[in-house]
Amino acid sequence: MPTSIESQALQEDLVRLRREIHRDPELGLDLPRTRRRVLDALAGLPLEVAVGREIGSVTAVLRGGRPGPAVLLRGDMDALPLAELTGVDYAARTETMHACGHDLHTAMLVGAAHLLSRRRERLSGDVIFMFQPGEEGQDGAARMIEEGVLEAAGAPPIAAYAIHVMSARFPHGVFTTRRGAVLAGGDLLRVTVRGKGGHGSAPHLARDTIAAAAAMIGALPGLLTRTVAPQDTAVLTIGAIHAGSAGNVIPDSTEFRGTLRWHTPQIRDALRAGVSGVCRSIAHAFGVDAETHITPYVSPTVNDDAEADLVADVAAELHGPHRYQELAQPLCAGEDFSNILDRVPGAMVLLGTCPPEADPATAPDIHSPYAVFDDAILSDGASFLAELASRRLEIAASSNVIAAQVLSDTV
Ligand SMILES: [Zn+2]
Repeated sequence: MPTSIESQALQEDLVRLRREIHRDPELGLDLPRTRRRVLDALAGLPLEVAVGREIGSVTAVLRGGRPGPAVLLRGDMDALPLAELTGVDYAARTETMHACGHDLHTAMLVGAAHLLSRRRERLSGDVIFMFQPGEEGQDGAARMIEEGVLEAAGAPPIAAYAIHVMSARFPHGVFTTRRGAVLAGGDLLRVTVRGKGGHGSAPHLARDTIAAAAAMIGALPGLLTRTVAPQDTAVLTIGAIHAGSAGNVIPDSTEFRGTLRWHTPQIRDALRAGVSGVCRSIAHAFGVDAETHITPYVSPTVNDDAEADLVADVAAELHGPHRYQELAQPLCAGEDFSNILDRVPGAMVLLGTCPPEADPATAPDIHSPYAVFDDAILSDGASFLAELASRRLEIAASSNVIAAQVLSDTV
């Protein structure tokens, strides 16, 4: 098995790679410089490497020395459109930042490719390394599925795993996941309210869209508490409002945008219907029109029970029992790795990476311009992914042997 000592030797290379990517972040589906760095870091390994036809993805397949099925490991590579304020010496100096830690995911996946390549002869099957662009709202996972990542090794993989680093909320160095739902499904909400503009001194002659929109935004949180059971979780956040140009002018229209997060289709459907109903009813009361658009954004990330158990075993055995904690409740963040887990049993694993001297309760969270990730964790993440893949292939090989014995006994 790839030992911690083995992976420690990779640590310096992984930190260098991660910081190069961090200094030079790229957005969306087209990541030419990041892709070049990944390809250079994989050069010389015994991999079948393919780049995306229309997107900046990299898919690499390692053929094990023994026959068997494939497992998939995924790392995303894209950054976010915000200016970094961390002050670290490898900070990006652009309007783009790796504030979600995808630079660490990329480096850990490169590390896993190195570790598994070293033990290729002993692997009972193949490993697909999925370097994904466009996780932050550009459907990168779905695009890679369209381009064939699940068939990269031949038959579809029997299991899929991904790590997401967390700059806050979770203790440093601790791997966390759970059976079932881990992350939420999400919808994008856009409501356009149209009325009749007019003079600010004569609202009775106008149809005031700001007043109507304000009533809707005020009512929606109440809908949430009356729709979702107290033991369940859901979120409804309005993050943008656009209307008006002067304090004494009633504008013709007001638009607000938000996000819905949920974990079950029942809650999703109830929220979608409730939001539309609240906006329609309030619009009616104010004599304005409301167009409500709810666009599906991401499906919930749901772990397979057995794969979540394997994650717990591997994390504890590899790095010690204190390095694994079960996630008590799913988070309301979303992840497009759900596209993979909708098709392949697997698990999404969270890894606490706030700096060791920081308090996870107050450290800046992912997506903050102040988020700092401790890259001393890279070799542990890489060895965890490598061990998870090889262990899963061993399990498949031993269950095949048992199945063959049962068959020969019965014949
Ligand atoms: Zn992310």
